[in-house]
Amino acid sequence: MTDLTSHPAQAFGADPLQVRDTDHYTDEYVTGFVEKWDELIDWKKRYESEGSFFVDLLKSRRVKSVLDVATGTGFHSVRLLEEGFETVSVDGSPEMLVKAFENGKNYGGHILQVVHADWRWLNRDVHGEFDAVICLGNSFTHLFSERDRRKALAEFYAVLKHDGILILDQRNYDAILDNGFSSKHTYYYCGDAVTAEPEYIDEGLARFRYSFPDHSQFHLNMYPLRKDYVRRLLREVGFQRLETYGDFQDTFAEDEPDFLIHVAEKS
Ligand code: SAM
Repeated sequence: MTDLTSHPAQAFGADPLQVRDTDHYTDEYVTGFVEKWDELIDWKKRYESEGSFFVDLLKSRRVKSVLDVATGTGFHSVRLLEEGFETVSVDGSPEMLVKAFENGKNYGGHILQVVHADWRWLNRDVHGEFDAVICLGNSFTHLFSERDRRKALAEFYAVLKHDGILILDQRNYDAILDNGFSSKHTYYYCGDAVTAEPEYIDEGLARFRYSFPDHSQFHLNMYPLRKDYVRRLLREVGFQRLETYGDFQDTFAEDEPDFLIHVAEKS
């Protein structure tokens, strides 16, 4: 019989809906899930659907050095290295960094400069200043308390040069919380036979289920960030100018985009 239960190595305990903890992300990105992550976010299709949005944005701001704080399996780090940006790749999950390093070698023979660090203590492990920090692929959502969010944003701010920019994206949780879920799965979750859908949502938890063709299932528990809340936090930690794009467009109807991309300028 096919096992449709969650992967045994992902431990959510007796009541998964009570798991609302920033530190839990390292238990969620277990090896089995990391291996499948690239199946989930098919690199070729993601490359096509994203186009040159981030590369153009960075080039238009004359960015040379980038700190990718949510490297994951390395999609953006590899893309940016290909485009000639000096890139340092950070993640709090060692499994993700191992996979990213392998991917760097396999896609173009790049040797990724990886740093294992948690955002909340980023400046302890990362030295130097960058023109840009990127936190992409709906990663900031893993922080469950406002204190952690403020701490992480302050650390991102501190590692930027005086005129640096932060690019941070998120799912459009307002649309999910207010209208239910209707992702077209166009942008980030592009694997053909893979579904990513919310199993449970309230103002404090978005629990997503990822189902793969081999019938395996994994989950992520995330905090449903509202757009205006994130914008307020970005301003409060000191970012001076802020633009939010919806699915790569600068004008959009509130409910429409699947993903929101915030571009915050330090000066
Ligand atoms: N950016 C990649 C992408 O788009 O494919 C990965 C996105 S994945 C949803 C989120 C990543 O953020 C994971 O690799 C996870 O380990 C990392 N992460 C989550 N919370 C973190 C934290 N507090 N410190 C460092 N990394 C964290």
